[in-house]
Amino acid sequence: VRIIPLQLQRLFAQLLLLDQEAASTTDLTDSFGWTSNEEMRQHDVQELNRILFSALETSLVGTSGHDLINRLYHGTIVNQIVCKECKNVSERQEDFLDLTVAVKNVSGLEDALWNMYVEEEVFDCDNLYHCGTCDRLVKAAKSAKLRKLPPFLTVSLLRFNFDFVKCERYKETSCYTFPLRINLKPFCEQSELDDLEYTYDLFSVIIHKGGCYGGHYHVYIKDVDHLGNWQFQEEKSKPDVNLKDLQSEEEIDHPLMILKAILLEENNLIPVDQLGQKLLKKIGISWNKKYRKQHGPLRKFLQLHSQIFLLSSDESTVRLLKNSSLQAESDFQRNDQQIFKMLPPESPGLNNSISCPHWFDINDSKVQPIREKDIEQQFQGKESAYMLFYRKSQLQRPPEARANPRYGVPCHLLNEMDAANIELQTKRAECDSASNTFELHLHLGPQYHFFNGALHPVVSQTESVWDLTFDKRKTLGDLRQSIFQLLEFWEGDMVLSVAKLVPAGLHIYQSLGGDELTLCETEIADGEDIFVWNGVEVGGVHIQTGIDCEPLLLNVLHLDTSSDGEKCCQVIESPHVFPANAEVGTVLTALAIPAGVIFINSAGCPGGEGWTAIPKEDMRKTFREQGLRNGSSVLIQDSHDDNSLLTKEEKWVTSMNEIDWLHVKNLCQLESEEKQVKISATVNTMVFDIRIKAIKELKLMKELADNSCLRPIDRNGKLLCPVPDSYTLKEAELKMGSSLGLCLGKAPSSSQCLKLMLKKSGLQGDAWHLRKMDWCYEAGEPLCEEDATLKELLICSGDTLLLIEGQLPPPGFLKVPIWWYQLQGPSGHWESHQDQTNCTSSRGRVWRAASSQGASGNEPAQVSLLYLGDIEISEDATLAELKSQAMTLPPFLEFGVPSPAHLRAWTVERKRPGRLLRTDRQPLREYKLGRRIEICLEPLQKGENLGPQDVLLRTQVRIPGERTYTPALDLVWNAAQGGTAGSLRQRVADFYCLPVEKIEIAKYFPEKFEWLPISSWNQQITKRKKKKKQDYLQGAPYYLKDGDTIGVKNLLIDDDDDFSTIRDDTGKEKQKQQALGRRKSQEALHEHSSYILSSAETPARPRAPETSLSIHVGSFR
Ligand SMILES: [Zn+2]
Repeated sequence: VRIIPLQLQRLFAQLLLLDQEAASTTDLTDSFGWTSNEEMRQHDVQELNRILFSALETSLVGTSGHDLINRLYHGTIVNQIVCKECKNVSERQEDFLDLTVAVKNVSGLEDALWNMYVEEEVFDCDNLYHCGTCDRLVKAAKSAKLRKLPPFLTVSLLRFNFDFVKCERYKETSCYTFPLRINLKPFCEQSELDDLEYTYDLFSVIIHKGGCYGGHYHVYIKDVDHLGNWQFQEEKSKPDVNLKDLQSEEEIDHPLMILKAILLEENNLIPVDQLGQKLLKKIGISWNKKYRKQHGPLRKFLQLHSQIFLLSSDESTVRLLKNSSLQAESDFQRNDQQIFKMLPPESPGLNNSISCPHWFDINDSKVQPIREKDIEQQFQGKESAYMLFYRKSQLQRPPEARANPRYGVPCHLLNEMDAANIELQTKRAECDSASNTFELHLHLGPQYHFFNGALHPVVSQTESVWDLTFDKRKTLGDLRQSIFQLLEFWEGDMVLSVAKLVPAGLHIYQSLGGDELTLCETEIADGEDIFVWNGVEVGGVHIQTGIDCEPLLLNVLHLDTSSDGEKCCQVIESPHVFPANAEVGTVLTALAIPAGVIFINSAGCPGGEGWTAIPKEDMRKTFREQGLRNGSSVLIQDSHDDNSLLTKEEKWVTSMNEIDWLHVKNLCQLESEEKQVKISATVNTMVFDIRIKAIKELKLMKELADNSCLRPIDRNGKLLCPVPDSYTLKEAELKMGSSLGLCLGKAPSSSQCLKLMLKKSGLQGDAWHLRKMDWCYEAGEPLCEEDATLKELLICSGDTLLLIEGQLPPPGFLKVPIWWYQLQGPSGHWESHQDQTNCTSSRGRVWRAASSQGASGNEPAQVSLLYLGDIEISEDATLAELKSQAMTLPPFLEFGVPSPAHLRAWTVERKRPGRLLRTDRQPLREYKLGRRIEICLEPLQKGENLGPQDVLLRTQVRIPGERTYTPALDLVWNAAQGGTAGSLRQRVADFYCLPVEKIEIAKYFPEKFEWLPISSWNQQITKRKKKKKQDYLQGAPYYLKDGDTIGVKNLLIDDDDDFSTIRDDTGKEKQKQQALGRRKSQEALHEHSSYILSSAETPARPRAPETSLSIHVGSFR
């Protein structure tokens, strides 16, 4: 399929016709075969242009458009050499799709073209030309001319050059001019045609911003057909926003500035109600929409900023305080321009005269009109023109194309775009109405009665509450009108008040006023409860409104003294409702206790020792002043009770608080009388117990106990994964009061899951197991416990499980591949032995981390690991047991290791020995090895016992003059004394019986083939940095650890500062070659040096590898 041209066509149709701000390029880049990875990479636009053209050409083969690219862009150059002797002309023609011109040392495009196509190069003196006709070296002149001009001329500027002195690429940022209209006649071979034939107009400029290792492209395009909306809102000095603009934009975005500006305009006095409307008019968006979320209601905002705004005593009007009004004036003048700049233009912009060229700057998501003279800003600098596009002036667009975006778009795309626009419109309308409606709940006063401290529906919630959907752009007056119409029976005054459901019942807050305000300007929010009443009473009871007298639902605890007069430690807990502004003492009155002490329990430590008695003098304080909230507990004691009761009762209170309920719904689809039961439980109750209790109470068959599970039901009624029976409620993260569904069947276990996957994939046998895919899309931890449910294994919906060959070891067992590891030692016996093993062992795989080609022995960091076999071992086994078991592997017989103590165990990491496992007696479980552990074993001459602070190092002494080392010797260094460089140097010196000041040591970094001297670094740095930090060798930059190689130099006989070996040189060289090879293969793809491929901004930072750009062309018939 010719997918690239089709996707290009569709993208352009979308840009032209789709009624949305941006179009996605995903389909197009998909058609290139680019992965998301490639899309993130920076490519050179000149290169892209070429590759795209070539891909288009390939995919148009055999169609009427097969020569499209050629027709539009193909031109030719002719290179000529004229012999001065015989005047013979030798000629070579070159094709081009774009002209590449130099920038360096050239003032502009015409200058560059002059150099290329007018200036002659003369061959003479010691630079003669061999003429074929004369058959000798002669003087000659070389020149080039444009032979055929394409209708569209693309010019690529060579802004990226290579500095051969510094050996680095750089960007040419010097001034390079290019004309809006250019006459190419002087550069052409033929010059007899009319001047118009050579005249070209600039219609597009690609601009590169940034350096040569990364940057950003944007493009100026002339809107030849005047399709875009070329309007300038305000004179802007620069297209990009600088920091100063940003600050002031933030400033004016702050509501303070705007409100101040409005007040100044209104002669500094305005009714608060009107302020919201003025604001809406000024900034085009209401307070509630823009600021309420962040700053709260408008009135509150004014109150909060009392240092600036002065509200009248009845809060109906607002003015600026004197000193701030002065300041506001100056702020305002400064920001005046900007405030109004944000506003949509009052009159539709002047449609500029047709002759005026319309240019746009297309910069990612931002498209803005620019003036033609702005193009000159791209002549030079970090942000400057990179590609120029000219079109023949004679090319005229047909008149019907003007301002007609549908012109030339194929019919099927027109239809597709029309359909898409209709869909967009519908969606927008839906979105508009959805985002502009408020859901209001009207509570009808006459349907309520005041009871137990709060308002409650007389009959039921459904009859007393009416839901109403209302456009929030309508006014409060409109809302009132609608409610009047709804409630035909209403008589008398109608007051609308904000109400809220509080634990005690419904409570009424402020009444709504200002009928001319829209709903979003009032304090109504979406989903608000509104109480409709006469403003005074409900069912004959005068109603207190407002936040002060909110009803509080308190938990009152007191001793039951009614039964037989004895204190039987029976504490009664009862809910009581009190207005928040009532005195605390009213509790006693309510409970008819003549005199008592009130204890309150500060929230936050329920059931703890948080009980404090309220002093007598505080009894007249209100509940709110005492910090009591809904649900707070209050304990009352007769004043003659002694306090010991409280401590005794505290425990009781504690357990009481923990007891709660869970709802279990019968979802078994079995006949039963009960649909739902309440099961009491504490956080420590097992899920199993709840399930069994529920089955009993739901009166279901006992058999269900073996074949059911509990699944939490979330707030939307969705059934979640079954909770494991063995969890407590706390472990299962179930909240008290939540609902569970009792369902048939058990939660699937991992073994069931495995069975199912094997069945689906048609695989046989049982030698399979499952692994979870880890975050780098590789097989991660295996699912070991066969009976565990997926929830217990923390598998979530959407996770990927991988089916892996091989049976898992039984639970609690590890399957450990064992490797044999020996330093390339002096023993020739070992090396030949290893060769034998290689040949004979059928399973033998040998990892060699570094090649030993052409190098003598004793080289550091040459690691060979030989695979011996797998063992299966319990996690409770000790390291010693692992070693013994490994010794039963057949290849071990040949090694003649006397006992497990003669083996040193390392983990295998990246095919090298990693962590040293020190203690033979330690169980494997405690090493935290993970399930994918592999172990390598190293033979020892004698047993060793390494302490936790011991670091095992391999030391090698440098042989003077030879650039090699003696065989490695193990050296145990106790790092307990801080692990300093000094301590290590001393240890090494003692080990080799050398004076400490006469040795130099260095750590070897095998991956980099580098040695980092330990002593000299120490001396340099101590002067500059704090001692403690740098001296610690186990930290940066040494990261000294077990198994590291330390080179030792005896300064008595070897006094140069070189630690490296010949193998290091070759290793480094090889790395360099590899890096170079990668770069070369890159460069081969480029015809010249202008490319920017890496993502890093500056050359100093490590750059991402440069990769080739490719566009795939789908195969087609
Ligand atoms: Zn000649």
